[in-house]
Amino acid sequence: MPHPLVVMKFGGSSVANADRIRRVARRIARARADGADLCIVVSAMGDTTDELLALAAAITEEPDPRELDVLLATGEHQSATLVSMALHALGVAAISLTGAQAGITTDGTYGRARIAGIDPARIRAEMAAGRVVIVAGFQGTSAAAMELAETTTLGRGGSDTTAVALAAALRADRCQIYTDVKGIYTADPRVVPDARQLPVIGYEEMLELAHQGAQVMQVRAVELGWVNNVVIEVLSSFEDAPGTLIREDPLVEQRNKVRGIAHDRNVAKVTLVAVPDRPGVARAVFAPLAEQGISVDMIVQNVGHGGATDMSFTVPRGELAKAKRVLEPIVRELGFREMTTDASIAKVSIIGAGLHNAPGYAARMFGALADAGVNIEMISTSEVRITCTIAEDQLEAAATALHAAFALAVPDQIDTGVTTPDPLAVPDQLDTGVADPLAVPDQLDTDVATPEPAG
Ligand code: ASP
Ligand code: MG
Repeated sequence: MPHPLVVMKFGGSSVANADRIRRVARRIARARADGADLCIVVSAMGDTTDELLALAAAITEEPDPRELDVLLATGEHQSATLVSMALHALGVAAISLTGAQAGITTDGTYGRARIAGIDPARIRAEMAAGRVVIVAGFQGTSAAAMELAETTTLGRGGSDTTAVALAAALRADRCQIYTDVKGIYTADPRVVPDARQLPVIGYEEMLELAHQGAQVMQVRAVELGWVNNVVIEVLSSFEDAPGTLIREDPLVEQRNKVRGIAHDRNVAKVTLVAVPDRPGVARAVFAPLAEQGISVDMIVQNVGHGGATDMSFTVPRGELAKAKRVLEPIVRELGFREMTTDASIAKVSIIGAGLHNAPGYAARMFGALADAGVNIEMISTSEVRITCTIAEDQLEAAATALHAAFALAVPDQIDTGVTTPDPLAVPDQLDTGVADPLAVPDQLDTDVATPEPAG
């Protein structure tokens, strides 16, 4: 039987210093000793990426995007080489590769490049030669041909995308995302103390959680996993405990309930007061924002009165100043009464596949918020989510009330049924010397397609 092929990704906090790098190396060495072929993906150490960005900003207000990407890619070069050295010190054959060496090509968009293709030939050759391959995450090259090649980065948190894309390209048996939390929770445990870890979550629900602020995994990585049907396991790099599986969830229909509460503090609200109520005005507001790359989220416009209406929307908090700069001339030109902004709001969402065809969730959500004395400012919905914006200082009260109202602390009976027969759900027992879950052949990944850039 061929060796199982496992992609293991370690985030920045897992490789933050030499001790942690040695610890990661020991974990890799154990998995290797058990016979797996390993492709490791690493993020930059700790806050390295932020520090490099700050350095560039100290040099110039507008760093050249090409140079910035080359600079940022070095963060992952550091951690990849150091993990490789730590493995050598343990007597494990290993080699680090840049994203380009690993065969990852992207489009040419600096700062948020999309993966265009992966040629895993070099990775396979290194594995065949008995080496553990350590790939620098978060980066690729704009062209396979050397004379055209430029280093690109995949956007913040992009190492997750590297890992999932490699897992798909290598048809890996497993894609493990090691991080500083134990898995995916029903809510952020720092905000809701009785939040519970989920043994399994469907792609769609995970995607919504990630979109709505759960920072465990990059949104694009979840999309890529969904498209390619890569079963992703999120687990702690600090303790040996079962993680959470992100995969197609066949029981989603039967669960038909709220699976989690997400929150996001990284929002600000813009309100345009007395906007003329006529065709073309919304375009005049949102087209320039889009041109400046400012992502607008919840948009609320009320029924017009006397030829005018108010319009509110949210933007990421860090982009509020830019949004104001873009909109000020438009407000003047089109004769709005005024523009007000509020940066002390937050979003709180309930998420669950099946919300849309089960009435009553919205009423229950609004009721729970009312009972907790939380005022709702804006509401938006999708098929799997209801989101409210509220005052940021009421976030904990709101999330806690919703967690209780939807009984999320109580384990779902169906959970037990779905995870037990699944070999991937077996906790990693490499440490205890008990049966190796990797030895169980995996049916799920056989139809993995070549990776596509995430939708
Ligand atoms: N180092 C990059 C970042 O901090 C990529 C990653 O961590 O996944 O965004
Ligand atoms: Mg990071």
